[in-house]
Amino acid sequence: MSEGRYDAIIVGAGFSGLYALHRLRGLGLSVRVLEAGGGIGGTWYWNRYPGARCDIESVDYSYSFDDELQQEWTWSERYPAQPELQRYLEHVADRFDLRRDIQLDTHVTQARYDEVASRWLIDTQDGTSFSACYCVMATGMLSVLKRPDFPGLDDFEGEWFHTARWPQDGADLAGKRVGIVGTGSTGIQAATTIAEQAEHLFVFQRTPNYSLPAQNRPLPGEEAEAIKSNYGERRRQARESFIGVPSQLAEAAAVEATEQERAQAFETRWQQGGLNLMSAFNDLLTNAEANEHAAEFVRSKIRATVKDAAVAERLQPRGYAIGTKRLCVDTGYFEIFNRDNVSLVDVREAPIKAITPRGVRTADTEYELDVLVFATGFDAMTGALLSIDVRGRGGESLRAKWAAGQRTYLGLATAGFPNLFIVTGPGSPSVLSNMVLSIEQHVEWIADCVAHLRAGGMTSIEATQEAEDSWVAHVAQVADYTLHGAANSWYNGANIPGKPRVYMPYIGGVGEYRKICDGVAARGYEGFLLETTRETTEAAA
Ligand SMILES: Cc1cc2nc3c(=O)[nH]c(=O)nc-3n(C[C@H](O)[C@H](O)[C@H](O)COP(=O)(O)OP(=O)(O)OC[C@H]3O[C@@H](n4cnc5c(N)ncnc54)[C@H](O)[C@@H]3O)c2cc1C
Repeated sequence: MSEGRYDAIIVGAGFSGLYALHRLRGLGLSVRVLEAGGGIGGTWYWNRYPGARCDIESVDYSYSFDDELQQEWTWSERYPAQPELQRYLEHVADRFDLRRDIQLDTHVTQARYDEVASRWLIDTQDGTSFSACYCVMATGMLSVLKRPDFPGLDDFEGEWFHTARWPQDGADLAGKRVGIVGTGSTGIQAATTIAEQAEHLFVFQRTPNYSLPAQNRPLPGEEAEAIKSNYGERRRQARESFIGVPSQLAEAAAVEATEQERAQAFETRWQQGGLNLMSAFNDLLTNAEANEHAAEFVRSKIRATVKDAAVAERLQPRGYAIGTKRLCVDTGYFEIFNRDNVSLVDVREAPIKAITPRGVRTADTEYELDVLVFATGFDAMTGALLSIDVRGRGGESLRAKWAAGQRTYLGLATAGFPNLFIVTGPGSPSVLSNMVLSIEQHVEWIADCVAHLRAGGMTSIEATQEAEDSWVAHVAQVADYTLHGAANSWYNGANIPGKPRVYMPYIGGVGEYRKICDGVAARGYEGFLLETTRETTEAAA
């Protein structure tokens, strides 16, 4: 059953898909967005768990492409919570009349390239098919969840939820004994809020994480107005920065500072809140000794916060460098362990053996629970792409091509798969950055590329093998230069059994990366093969 021919199909309706639709439609293309969820918003549609919020400041974690949009929208908090982010994306969809080209509840299962027609053929779970010149994968880097695989889960008599599939109308946790498994960014946010709702909360922790205080607060009108009056400059600084926010990376090295200078610099950044701590010195991610100073500062804060010394000891991260696993940002996480209704369960000491009908059995105790919350994370960066059966030239499968690790050119494209664009794909700064900024940069690059192809009557663009090989080598080389290369984290697939251990994001910084992408385009799409055949445009069905 065929649904229609389009110039472009976009898979996913989060920040990436919405903007890609706006840009490509602006070029006069016929475009269809296919979204598996029952609503738009991507991450912010699915992740409705208690305490869900972003940890990049609202004024930066928002679209910059339209000045009227950024002037008319007012954020209520420094770090907005999920409902506000969802409202923002709904507003954007309405404001730019995006909904008419978005098809919800449509799960893409296969995408294959027809070399004769230079078109992508896209199949969905309900049996409908689409075809398009360009296929934009806006499927998200953190959208395929890691399902809990504990034995006995099916027999659990209480309720259980994965944080990324939280019930749309919420879950009543009042008066319940709740267990949460996982203490990454999501687990920390959820535990902090659930502690206030549940009768008792058991936090099952395997790996203690570094977490920094958000110092969240309402955003007063005058402050928002001051930012808006100088928004252009703020956005420019963010684009040229390392992670995509206007930060002031200190010029001094931690290893050259005195103990007092270090303590003062860390304390100042700690009070500023969020990820600022990591900008206190310029060597925190490249020098193990410098990193240990920052790590020890965070540990000292945990010791000062948590009253029970034994609990504080178990909460302190050790054995890996701060910043090499996703840094957490919290609003009172360590404080919850001073509450009578919160218990820390160290499952490294006594691992979870099974889920029982009544709760969780570890090596030494059974915990009786009414509700189990799994904050077990995602099959990051490659999960969503590889859950689609993507086939390129000669029927080559993307799953087979990436079996030993993902291979892209700039994180935007992969050799053998013409006219397939990936938004914030592996090999780009992506999850190491303010992702809205990275999304805008990718979507704009893709739209400019498509405009270039059409202006020149070209039907396809494809990364060359040589360009891809050298980019893959460069991404690995830059990661190895930092402390990231050595860490186990979802950045290199360590959280998914059997996943190849390859460092996925590009850690060269968003400013440098943008220059590279712009240079590639300016030199006539260097490293890409551009082809001209018969067909150049397609009308909507
Ligand atoms: C809890 C959480 C907090 C986060 N906080 C931050 C933050 O503070 N700062 C930051 O920069 N980033 C953060 N992120 C990352 C966040 O994912 C990005 O910032 C951004 O929202 C990604 O937008 P996207 O459109 O690229 O992907 P997503 O928002 O993930 O959207 C992808 C969409 O594609 C759909 N899709 C996937 N596969 C298919 C398919 N086969 N068929 C049809 N549809 C499909 C999905 O249903 C989803 O709706 C966070 C992520 C999570 C999970």
